Amino acid sequence: MEVVSVAGLGWPEHRRVRTALRRPAAKGQTGLGWPAGSESSAAADEAWLAELACQSLAPGAPDGAVPMRVRRALASVPRETGQSAVAGASVPGGMHVVARADSVGVAGVGTGESEVEVAIPAGPDAVADTPIARAAQAAVVARSGGAPWPRPPSCRVITIANQKGGVGKTTTAVNLAASLAMHGSRVLVVDLDPQGNASTALDIEHHSGVPSVYNVLVDDAPIGSVVQQVAGFQQLYCVPAAIDLAGAEIELVPLVARESRLARSLAGYDASHLDYIFLDCPPSLGLLTVNALVAAPEVLIPIQCEYYALEGLEQLLRTVDLVRSHLNPALAVTTILLTMYDGRTRLASQVADEVREHFGAVVLGSVIPRSVRVSEAPSYGQSVMTYDPGSTGAIAYLEAARELAQRSAAAAAG
Ligand code: ADP
Ligand code: MG
Repeated sequence: MEVVSVAGLGWPEHRRVRTALRRPAAKGQTGLGWPAGSESSAAADEAWLAELACQSLAPGAPDGAVPMRVRRALASVPRETGQSAVAGASVPGGMHVVARADSVGVAGVGTGESEVEVAIPAGPDAVADTPIARAAQAAVVARSGGAPWPRPPSCRVITIANQKGGVGKTTTAVNLAASLAMHGSRVLVVDLDPQGNASTALDIEHHSGVPSVYNVLVDDAPIGSVVQQVAGFQQLYCVPAAIDLAGAEIELVPLVARESRLARSLAGYDASHLDYIFLDCPPSLGLLTVNALVAAPEVLIPIQCEYYALEGLEQLLRTVDLVRSHLNPALAVTTILLTMYDGRTRLASQVADEVREHFGAVVLGSVIPRSVRVSEAPSYGQSVMTYDPGSTGAIAYLEAARELAQRSAAAAAG
Protein backbone atom coordinates (compact mmCIF):
# COMPACT_ATOMS: atom_id res chain seq x y z
CA MET A 1 0.00 0.00 0.00
CA GLU A 2 1.24 3.42 -0.89
CA VAL A 3 1.96 5.60 2.07
CA VAL A 4 1.17 9.20 1.38
CA SER A 5 3.87 11.59 2.43
CA VAL A 6 2.75 14.07 5.00
CA ALA A 7 4.80 17.14 4.41
CA GLY A 8 4.91 19.66 7.14
CA LEU A 9 1.55 20.08 8.65
CA GLY A 10 -0.41 16.92 8.18
CA TRP A 11 -1.72 17.77 4.72
CA PRO A 12 -0.97 14.91 2.37
CA GLU A 13 1.08 15.96 -0.61
CA HIS A 14 -0.82 13.71 -2.97
CA ARG A 15 -1.27 15.50 -6.26
CA ARG A 16 -4.17 13.44 -7.55
CA VAL A 17 -6.28 14.02 -4.47
CA ARG A 18 -5.45 17.69 -4.21
CA THR A 19 -6.15 18.25 -7.88
CA ALA A 20 -9.43 16.40 -7.66
CA LEU A 21 -10.47 18.43 -4.67
CA ARG A 22 -9.62 21.73 -6.29
CA ARG A 23 -10.92 21.06 -9.78
CA PRO A 24 -13.85 23.40 -10.40
CA ALA A 25 -17.22 21.71 -10.69
CA ALA A 26 -18.08 20.85 -14.27
CA LYS A 27 -21.28 19.51 -15.78
CA GLY A 28 -22.22 16.26 -14.14
CA GLN A 29 -19.89 16.84 -11.22
CA THR A 30 -20.68 17.61 -7.66
CA GLY A 31 -19.47 20.73 -5.95
CA LEU A 32 -16.06 19.39 -5.06
CA GLY A 33 -15.27 18.06 -8.48
CA TRP A 34 -16.10 14.44 -7.80
CA PRO A 35 -17.96 12.70 -10.60
CA ALA A 36 -21.70 12.53 -9.99
CA GLY A 37 -22.51 9.43 -12.07
CA SER A 38 -22.96 6.28 -10.07
CA GLU A 39 -20.21 4.28 -11.76
CA SER A 40 -17.60 6.97 -11.77
CA SER A 41 -18.83 8.09 -8.38
CA ALA A 42 -18.21 4.62 -7.04
CA ALA A 43 -14.74 4.70 -8.55
CA ALA A 44 -14.10 8.09 -7.00
CA ASP A 45 -15.31 6.81 -3.65
CA GLU A 46 -12.96 3.87 -3.98
CA ALA A 47 -10.05 6.18 -4.68
CA TRP A 48 -11.06 8.53 -1.94
CA LEU A 49 -11.49 5.83 0.66
CA ALA A 50 -8.20 4.29 -0.39
CA GLU A 51 -6.61 7.67 0.17
CA LEU A 52 -8.25 7.91 3.54
CA ALA A 53 -6.88 4.55 4.53
CA CYS A 54 -3.42 5.69 3.40
CA GLN A 55 -3.73 8.92 5.34
CA SER A 56 -4.54 7.04 8.48
CA LEU A 57 -1.36 5.05 8.08
CA ALA A 58 0.84 8.00 7.22
CA PRO A 59 3.02 9.55 9.90
CA GLY A 60 1.88 13.06 10.79
CA ALA A 61 4.81 15.24 11.76
CA PRO A 62 3.99 18.88 12.06
CA ASP A 63 6.94 21.20 11.65
CA GLY A 64 7.35 24.85 12.47
CA ALA A 65 4.52 27.21 11.73
CA VAL A 66 3.93 30.92 12.08
CA PRO A 67 0.70 32.82 12.60
CA MET A 68 0.63 33.68 8.88
CA ARG A 69 0.32 29.96 8.10
CA VAL A 70 -2.57 29.74 10.47
CA ARG A 71 -4.23 32.63 8.70
CA ARG A 72 -3.55 31.06 5.32
CA ALA A 73 -5.03 27.79 6.45
CA LEU A 74 -8.16 29.56 7.56
CA ALA A 75 -8.36 31.60 4.40
CA SER A 76 -8.46 28.40 2.38
CA VAL A 77 -11.25 26.84 4.43
CA PRO A 78 -14.47 27.31 2.49
CA ARG A 79 -16.95 29.26 4.52
CA GLU A 80 -19.94 27.40 3.15
CA THR A 81 -18.66 24.02 4.27
CA GLY A 82 -21.39 23.43 6.79
CA GLN A 83 -24.26 23.59 4.33
CA SER A 84 -26.43 20.56 4.19
CA ALA A 85 -29.88 19.33 3.45
CA VAL A 86 -30.80 19.16 7.12
CA ALA A 87 -33.14 21.82 8.37
CA GLY A 88 -31.48 24.35 10.58
CA ALA A 89 -30.60 27.97 11.01
CA SER A 90 -28.14 29.79 8.83
CA VAL A 91 -25.53 31.78 10.66
CA PRO A 92 -23.03 34.44 9.69
CA GLY A 93 -20.17 32.96 7.74
CA GLY A 94 -22.40 30.62 5.81
CA MET A 95 -22.14 27.70 8.21
CA HIS A 96 -25.28 25.74 8.70
CA VAL A 97 -26.22 25.32 12.32
CA VAL A 98 -28.20 22.26 13.11
CA ALA A 99 -28.51 21.97 16.82
CA ARG A 100 -30.25 18.63 16.63
CA ALA A 101 -31.29 16.10 14.08
CA ASP A 102 -34.91 15.19 13.61
CA SER A 103 -34.04 11.73 12.53
CA VAL A 104 -30.85 10.02 13.47
CA GLY A 105 -31.52 6.68 11.93
CA VAL A 106 -31.90 4.97 15.26
CA ALA A 107 -35.55 4.15 15.15
CA GLY A 108 -36.80 1.50 17.48
CA VAL A 109 -35.96 -1.58 15.52
CA GLY A 110 -35.10 -4.84 17.25
CA THR A 111 -32.08 -4.51 19.45
CA GLY A 112 -30.77 -8.01 19.14
CA GLU A 113 -30.48 -8.33 22.88
CA SER A 114 -28.06 -10.72 24.42
CA GLU A 115 -27.72 -11.87 28.01
CA VAL A 116 -24.99 -9.39 28.71
CA GLU A 117 -26.85 -6.48 27.27
CA VAL A 118 -27.08 -3.43 29.51
CA ALA A 119 -30.66 -2.32 29.94
CA ILE A 120 -30.95 1.43 29.56
CA PRO A 121 -33.77 2.65 31.80
CA ALA A 122 -36.49 4.83 30.34
CA GLY A 123 -36.73 7.15 33.33
CA PRO A 124 -35.22 10.58 32.78
CA ASP A 125 -34.38 11.67 36.29
CA ALA A 126 -32.22 9.01 37.81
CA VAL A 127 -29.65 10.32 40.26
CA ALA A 128 -26.04 9.35 40.82
CA ASP A 129 -25.68 6.46 43.20
CA THR A 130 -22.18 6.76 44.64
CA PRO A 131 -20.85 9.33 47.11
CA ILE A 132 -18.41 10.85 44.63
CA ALA A 133 -21.00 11.10 41.89
CA ARG A 134 -23.51 12.60 44.31
CA ALA A 135 -20.96 15.18 45.47
CA ALA A 136 -20.05 16.00 41.91
CA GLN A 137 -23.66 16.26 40.93
CA ALA A 138 -24.41 18.55 43.86
CA ALA A 139 -21.50 20.79 42.90
CA VAL A 140 -22.44 21.08 39.26
CA VAL A 141 -26.12 21.56 40.00
CA ALA A 142 -25.23 24.31 42.48
CA ARG A 143 -23.08 26.01 39.88
CA SER A 144 -25.74 25.74 37.22
CA GLY A 145 -28.28 27.35 39.50
CA GLY A 146 -30.13 24.09 39.98
CA ALA A 147 -32.10 24.56 36.79
CA PRO A 148 -32.75 21.36 34.87
CA TRP A 149 -31.34 21.15 31.38
CA PRO A 150 -33.62 20.51 28.43
CA ARG A 151 -33.32 17.11 26.79
CA PRO A 152 -33.59 16.76 23.04
CA PRO A 153 -36.90 15.41 21.74
CA SER A 154 -35.04 12.55 20.08
CA CYS A 155 -31.57 11.12 20.38
CA ARG A 156 -28.78 13.31 18.96
CA VAL A 157 -25.90 11.38 17.44
CA ILE A 158 -22.74 13.50 17.38
CA THR A 159 -19.38 12.55 15.88
CA ILE A 160 -16.42 14.16 17.62
CA ALA A 161 -13.76 14.35 14.95
CA ASN A 162 -10.45 15.97 14.18
CA GLN A 163 -7.69 14.01 12.50
CA LYS A 164 -5.13 15.75 14.65
CA GLY A 165 -4.22 13.84 17.77
CA GLY A 166 -4.24 15.40 21.20
CA VAL A 167 -6.71 18.21 20.46
CA GLY A 168 -9.19 17.10 23.12
CA LYS A 169 -11.61 14.83 21.22
CA THR A 170 -11.72 12.16 23.90
CA THR A 171 -11.63 14.64 26.77
CA THR A 172 -14.53 16.47 25.17
CA ALA A 173 -16.54 13.30 24.53
CA VAL A 174 -16.10 12.05 28.08
CA ASN A 175 -16.72 15.34 29.88
CA LEU A 176 -19.65 16.51 27.78
CA ALA A 177 -21.18 13.07 28.24
CA ALA A 178 -20.62 13.12 32.01
CA SER A 179 -21.98 16.67 32.33
CA LEU A 180 -25.11 15.86 30.35
CA ALA A 181 -25.64 12.61 32.27
CA MET A 182 -25.37 14.55 35.54
CA HIS A 183 -28.14 16.82 34.35
CA GLY A 184 -30.68 14.19 33.55
CA SER A 185 -29.74 13.15 30.02
CA ARG A 186 -29.05 9.57 29.04
CA VAL A 187 -25.79 9.39 27.18
CA LEU A 188 -23.81 6.76 25.31
CA VAL A 189 -20.15 7.23 24.39
CA VAL A 190 -18.92 5.01 21.54
CA ASP A 191 -15.14 4.68 21.65
CA LEU A 192 -13.87 4.38 18.08
CA ASP A 193 -10.18 4.86 18.86
CA PRO A 194 -8.06 1.69 19.10
CA GLN A 195 -6.17 3.40 21.91
CA GLY A 196 -9.35 3.12 23.98
CA ASN A 197 -8.80 6.43 25.79
CA ALA A 198 -12.51 7.12 26.29
CA SER A 199 -12.95 3.62 27.71
CA THR A 200 -10.04 4.24 30.09
CA ALA A 201 -11.35 7.64 31.17
CA LEU A 202 -14.76 6.13 31.94
CA ASP A 203 -13.12 3.16 33.69
CA ILE A 204 -14.73 0.66 31.35
CA GLU A 205 -13.23 -2.78 30.93
CA HIS A 206 -11.65 -2.86 27.50
CA HIS A 207 -8.85 -5.38 27.45
CA SER A 208 -8.47 -7.65 24.47
CA GLY A 209 -11.33 -10.13 24.40
CA VAL A 210 -13.96 -7.82 25.91
CA PRO A 211 -16.85 -7.41 23.47
CA SER A 212 -16.27 -4.02 21.90
CA VAL A 213 -16.97 -1.77 18.96
CA TYR A 214 -14.68 -4.03 16.92
CA ASN A 215 -17.30 -6.79 17.13
CA VAL A 216 -19.95 -4.33 16.00
CA LEU A 217 -17.96 -3.17 12.97
CA VAL A 218 -16.37 -6.41 11.86
CA ASP A 219 -18.60 -9.20 13.24
CA ASP A 220 -21.99 -7.48 12.96
CA ALA A 221 -22.56 -7.79 16.72
CA PRO A 222 -25.55 -5.70 17.87
CA ILE A 223 -24.48 -2.51 19.65
CA GLY A 224 -26.74 -3.41 22.58
CA SER A 225 -24.60 -6.47 23.26
CA VAL A 226 -21.40 -4.49 23.82
CA VAL A 227 -22.73 -1.52 25.82
CA GLN A 228 -21.41 -1.19 29.38
CA GLN A 229 -22.74 1.05 32.11
CA VAL A 230 -20.32 3.61 33.53
CA ALA A 231 -19.88 3.15 37.28
CA GLY A 232 -21.17 6.01 39.40
CA PHE A 233 -23.66 7.17 36.79
CA GLN A 234 -27.10 5.75 36.29
CA GLN A 235 -27.44 7.27 32.86
CA LEU A 236 -24.01 7.07 31.25
CA TYR A 237 -22.98 4.18 29.01
CA CYS A 238 -19.99 3.28 26.91
CA VAL A 239 -19.21 1.02 23.98
CA PRO A 240 -15.54 0.25 24.61
CA ALA A 241 -12.70 -0.02 22.15
CA ALA A 242 -9.81 -2.41 22.56
CA ILE A 243 -6.52 -2.58 20.72
CA ASP A 244 -7.95 -5.10 18.21
CA LEU A 245 -9.77 -2.15 16.67
CA ALA A 246 -6.44 -1.13 15.13
CA GLY A 247 -6.80 -4.05 12.75
CA ALA A 248 -10.37 -3.13 11.87
CA GLU A 249 -9.22 -0.31 9.60
CA ILE A 250 -7.68 -2.99 7.37
CA GLU A 251 -10.24 -5.74 8.01
CA LEU A 252 -13.08 -3.44 6.97
CA VAL A 253 -11.63 -2.82 3.52
CA PRO A 254 -12.99 -5.95 1.80
CA LEU A 255 -16.32 -5.93 3.66
CA VAL A 256 -19.60 -4.91 2.06
CA ALA A 257 -20.63 -1.32 2.80
CA ARG A 258 -17.47 -0.91 4.81
CA GLU A 259 -18.02 2.79 5.43
CA SER A 260 -21.64 2.34 6.59
CA ARG A 261 -21.29 -0.49 9.06
CA LEU A 262 -21.63 1.64 12.18
CA ALA A 263 -24.60 3.48 10.64
CA ARG A 264 -26.32 0.17 9.90
CA SER A 265 -25.68 -1.05 13.38
CA LEU A 266 -27.04 2.15 14.93
CA ALA A 267 -30.10 1.94 12.70
CA GLY A 268 -30.83 -1.45 14.25
CA TYR A 269 -30.35 -0.18 17.80
CA ASP A 270 -33.22 1.15 19.87
CA ALA A 271 -31.90 4.53 20.97
CA SER A 272 -35.27 5.80 22.12
CA HIS A 273 -34.06 5.64 25.72
CA LEU A 274 -31.01 7.76 24.97
CA ASP A 275 -30.66 11.52 24.53
CA TYR A 276 -27.12 11.70 23.15
CA ILE A 277 -24.70 9.34 21.46
CA PHE A 278 -21.13 10.65 21.14
CA LEU A 279 -18.81 8.93 18.68
CA ASP A 280 -15.19 9.50 19.76
CA CYS A 281 -13.00 9.23 16.65
CA PRO A 282 -9.36 8.23 16.30
CA PRO A 283 -6.80 10.79 15.10
CA SER A 284 -7.09 9.98 11.39
CA LEU A 285 -9.51 10.31 8.53
CA GLY A 286 -9.55 6.58 7.82
CA LEU A 287 -12.45 4.15 7.71
CA LEU A 288 -13.21 4.37 11.42
CA THR A 289 -13.75 8.12 11.25
CA VAL A 290 -15.66 7.76 7.98
CA ASN A 291 -17.93 5.19 9.65
CA ALA A 292 -18.65 7.74 12.37
CA LEU A 293 -19.32 10.51 9.85
CA VAL A 294 -21.75 8.26 7.98
CA ALA A 295 -23.49 7.21 11.21
CA ALA A 296 -24.26 10.66 12.63
CA PRO A 297 -25.92 13.78 11.29
CA GLU A 298 -23.84 16.05 13.51
CA VAL A 299 -20.12 16.71 13.74
CA LEU A 300 -18.45 18.40 16.69
CA ILE A 301 -14.90 19.57 16.00
CA PRO A 302 -12.66 20.34 18.95
CA ILE A 303 -10.02 22.90 17.98
CA GLN A 304 -6.96 23.34 20.12
CA CYS A 305 -6.03 26.99 20.64
CA GLU A 306 -2.45 26.40 19.45
CA TYR A 307 -0.18 26.64 16.42
CA TYR A 308 -1.05 24.08 13.73
CA ALA A 309 -4.55 23.78 15.13
CA LEU A 310 -6.19 25.07 12.00
CA GLU A 311 -3.89 23.47 9.50
CA GLY A 312 -5.80 20.24 9.16
CA LEU A 313 -9.22 21.85 9.19
CA GLU A 314 -9.50 22.26 5.45
CA GLN A 315 -8.89 18.56 4.95
CA LEU A 316 -11.38 17.63 7.66
CA LEU A 317 -14.08 19.90 6.27
CA ARG A 318 -13.52 18.57 2.76
CA THR A 319 -13.91 15.06 4.12
CA VAL A 320 -17.18 16.11 5.74
CA ASP A 321 -18.27 17.53 2.36
CA LEU A 322 -17.35 14.31 0.59
CA VAL A 323 -19.18 12.13 3.08
CA ARG A 324 -22.20 14.40 2.78
CA SER A 325 -22.12 14.23 -1.02
CA HIS A 326 -21.71 10.49 -1.26
CA LEU A 327 -22.81 8.76 1.89
CA ASN A 328 -24.72 10.91 4.38
CA PRO A 329 -26.68 13.88 2.99
CA ALA A 330 -27.76 14.91 6.50
CA LEU A 331 -24.22 15.51 7.73
CA ALA A 332 -23.37 18.97 9.06
CA VAL A 333 -20.74 20.54 11.28
CA THR A 334 -22.98 21.74 14.07
CA THR A 335 -20.54 22.52 16.84
CA ILE A 336 -16.96 23.73 17.24
CA LEU A 337 -15.38 23.75 20.68
CA LEU A 338 -12.19 25.65 21.48
CA THR A 339 -10.01 23.55 23.75
CA MET A 340 -6.78 23.87 25.74
CA TYR A 341 -7.04 27.64 25.85
CA ASP A 342 -4.10 29.20 27.62
CA GLY A 343 -5.13 32.67 28.71
CA ARG A 344 -1.51 33.67 29.28
CA THR A 345 -0.70 33.58 25.58
CA ARG A 346 -1.82 36.01 22.93
CA LEU A 347 -1.69 33.22 20.41
CA ALA A 348 -4.55 31.37 22.09
CA SER A 349 -6.83 34.38 21.94
CA GLN A 350 -5.78 35.07 18.33
CA VAL A 351 -6.67 31.52 17.31
CA ALA A 352 -9.97 31.75 19.19
CA ASP A 353 -10.82 35.08 17.55
CA GLU A 354 -10.00 33.78 14.08
CA VAL A 355 -12.09 30.68 14.56
CA ARG A 356 -15.05 32.71 15.81
CA GLU A 357 -14.73 35.21 12.99
CA HIS A 358 -14.68 32.45 10.44
CA PHE A 359 -17.25 30.02 11.78
CA GLY A 360 -19.62 32.31 13.64
CA ALA A 361 -22.34 30.83 15.83
CA VAL A 362 -21.26 27.24 15.28
CA VAL A 363 -18.49 27.89 17.82
CA LEU A 364 -19.65 27.37 21.38
CA GLY A 365 -19.29 30.42 23.61
CA SER A 366 -17.61 28.32 26.29
CA VAL A 367 -13.89 27.81 25.88
CA ILE A 368 -12.08 24.95 27.61
CA PRO A 369 -8.97 26.20 29.42
CA ARG A 370 -5.78 24.24 29.71
CA SER A 371 -6.13 22.66 33.14
CA VAL A 372 -3.98 20.19 35.01
CA ARG A 373 -7.08 18.66 36.60
CA VAL A 374 -8.49 17.84 33.17
CA SER A 375 -5.34 15.95 32.22
CA GLU A 376 -5.11 14.18 35.60
CA ALA A 377 -8.66 12.87 35.62
CA PRO A 378 -8.25 9.97 33.11
CA SER A 379 -5.50 8.37 35.17
CA TYR A 380 -8.08 7.97 37.94
CA GLY A 381 -10.58 6.46 35.52
CA GLN A 382 -12.78 9.51 35.85
CA SER A 383 -14.08 12.50 33.98
CA VAL A 384 -12.98 15.82 35.43
CA MET A 385 -16.64 16.33 36.29
CA THR A 386 -16.30 13.77 39.08
CA TYR A 387 -12.55 14.06 39.71
CA ASP A 388 -12.65 17.77 40.53
CA PRO A 389 -16.04 19.29 39.81
CA GLY A 390 -15.00 22.71 41.08
CA SER A 391 -11.97 23.01 38.79
CA THR A 392 -11.90 25.48 35.92
CA GLY A 393 -11.85 22.63 33.40
CA ALA A 394 -14.93 20.97 34.89
CA ILE A 395 -16.83 24.24 35.00
CA ALA A 396 -15.93 25.00 31.39
CA TYR A 397 -17.09 21.58 30.21
CA LEU A 398 -20.25 22.01 32.24
CA GLU A 399 -20.94 25.29 30.47
CA ALA A 400 -20.18 23.79 27.07
CA ALA A 401 -22.56 20.89 27.77
CA ARG A 402 -25.25 23.29 28.89
CA GLU A 403 -24.90 25.23 25.63
CA LEU A 404 -25.19 21.99 23.70
CA ALA A 405 -28.35 21.08 25.60
CA GLN A 406 -29.84 24.53 25.09
CA ARG A 407 -29.16 24.33 21.37
CA SER A 408 -31.20 21.12 21.32
CA ALA A 409 -34.07 22.99 22.89
CA ALA A 410 -33.73 25.99 20.56
CA ALA A 411 -33.74 23.76 17.48
CA ALA A 412 -36.73 21.82 18.76
CA ALA A 413 -38.63 25.04 19.42
CA GLY A 414 -37.65 26.63 16.10
P1 ADP B 1 -7.54 13.45 21.38
O1 ADP B 1 -8.64 12.52 21.78
O2 ADP B 1 -7.96 14.50 20.41
O3 ADP B 1 -6.32 12.72 20.91
P2 ADP B 1 -7.30 13.93 24.20
O4 ADP B 1 -8.65 14.31 24.65
O5 ADP B 1 -6.87 12.51 24.48
O6 ADP B 1 -7.09 14.28 22.68
O7 ADP B 1 -6.28 14.94 24.87
C1 ADP B 1 -4.87 14.80 24.67
C2 ADP B 1 -4.14 15.02 25.98
O8 ADP B 1 -4.35 16.34 26.43
C3 ADP B 1 -4.61 14.11 27.09
O9 ADP B 1 -3.53 13.75 27.88
C4 ADP B 1 -5.58 14.96 27.88
O10 ADP B 1 -5.64 14.58 29.22
C5 ADP B 1 -4.95 16.32 27.71
N1 ADP B 1 -5.95 17.39 27.73
C6 ADP B 1 -7.10 17.45 27.02
N2 ADP B 1 -7.77 18.58 27.28
C7 ADP B 1 -7.03 19.25 28.20
C8 ADP B 1 -7.17 20.51 28.89
N3 ADP B 1 -8.23 21.30 28.69
N4 ADP B 1 -6.19 20.88 29.75
C9 ADP B 1 -5.13 20.08 29.95
N5 ADP B 1 -4.91 18.92 29.35
C10 ADP B 1 -5.86 18.50 28.49
MG1 MG C 1 -8.79 10.46 21.61
